[in-house]
Amino acid sequence: MSLIVQKFGGSSVADADSIKRVAKRIVETRKRGDDVVAVVSAMGDTTDELLDLAHAVVPGLPAVGRELDMLLTAGERISMALLAMAIKSQGADAVSFTGSQAGMLTDDRHGAARIVSVTPDRVRHALDKGQIAIVQGFAGFNKVTGDITTLGRGGSDTSAVALAAALDADVCEIYTDVDGVFTADPRVVPRARRIARVTSEEMLELAAAGAKVLHIRSVEYARRHGVTLHVRSSFTNDEGTIVYDPERAGSTMEEPMIVGVAHDLSEAKVTVVGVPDVPGTAARIFTIVAETGANVDMIVQNVSEAATGRTDISFTLPKEEAGGVLQALESHRSDVGFASLQHDDQIGKLALVGAGMRTNAGVSARLFKALSDAGINIEMISTSEIRISVVTRADQLVDAVRVVHTAFELDGDDEAVVHAGTGR
Ligand code: ASP
Ligand code: MG
Repeated sequence: MSLIVQKFGGSSVADADSIKRVAKRIVETRKRGDDVVAVVSAMGDTTDELLDLAHAVVPGLPAVGRELDMLLTAGERISMALLAMAIKSQGADAVSFTGSQAGMLTDDRHGAARIVSVTPDRVRHALDKGQIAIVQGFAGFNKVTGDITTLGRGGSDTSAVALAAALDADVCEIYTDVDGVFTADPRVVPRARRIARVTSEEMLELAAAGAKVLHIRSVEYARRHGVTLHVRSSFTNDEGTIVYDPERAGSTMEEPMIVGVAHDLSEAKVTVVGVPDVPGTAARIFTIVAETGANVDMIVQNVSEAATGRTDISFTLPKEEAGGVLQALESHRSDVGFASLQHDDQIGKLALVGAGMRTNAGVSARLFKALSDAGINIEMISTSEIRISVVTRADQLVDAVRVVHTAFELDGDDEAVVHAGTGR
């Protein structure tokens, strides 16, 4: 008998029929003799609708706060109770728990709380009694303030992984609206293929580069705590994708050179023009940027011109963070000594990921050739050991992803099926 944590995303519990379908799947798992803990997201787009409502009541409301967490956790509260009722009506025993009842203790950062410990005593007790435990995803509790918190958008993947780790579950199944992790977003590349197995290291790079199938924090948490993730569709019984740690699994299997291509249209580029090329300037600039709380991704600094001793520094960051950063930098223009700022929100980012890059030469040459053959200009390049990222014009990104997918022989024979939703 195993202990399985199953997490169901918003699109898997979008309406009454979906909730009944999910209940049936959980009951079937239980009937096979396994213990089941199910973690749920809010139904469909409930979280967005609640946010819209808050902003209609208070235009200009700050994006995070105590009352917002009270409001947003209502979404998961609805789905957890309905799911427990549906399971009971199908003849199995179930009981639902809020995040705090399930022992999801966090710090006090509303809207972005970090997990400090998980003490799922009540969940374990319910399992011992033969019940199916349903747990509210996304929600936590801070012991010091006594307040409800949320883990940030998409956080219920992390709730599920944290519970799986605390309960020492055999596997954490993440049910979504696609059949697993694909070599590219099947909405963009119809010939994208399902990846049967991917290492957590590669999955982290894919998620960081814009693959939306898993919340990046959940992959990090799973990697740190040795939780095996199994990404599956709640609409089919297909095999899905296993995300695993090859060292823990003692795997000696040779991995494919490239696992996939991720893309991201959510970033903007800021260029600081005419920066004095002297020690300390980059530190100064990125201290100012960091103080705004922005998440900088790629950074490129040009060679300075001998005549002027000045250079340009460009970096990418989430579009919505660009305004604050530009303002902060502008207010330090004279003391940092740069000439001007440029802002470009029409960029796209493509990332090619694969652990085999470590030992294969020529991957970047092949990538750049594929892009140049398609007439696509590369504006920035950055690499890690197992990833190459490039920035292109936003309107060329989809083409770029397709040609690179083909160039690395990732195209499958059949069209990928997308069951519902938007990839979450
Ligand atoms: N309902 C929350 C959101 O939409 C949490 C989640 O779905 O994981 O962000
Ligand atoms: Mg959601």
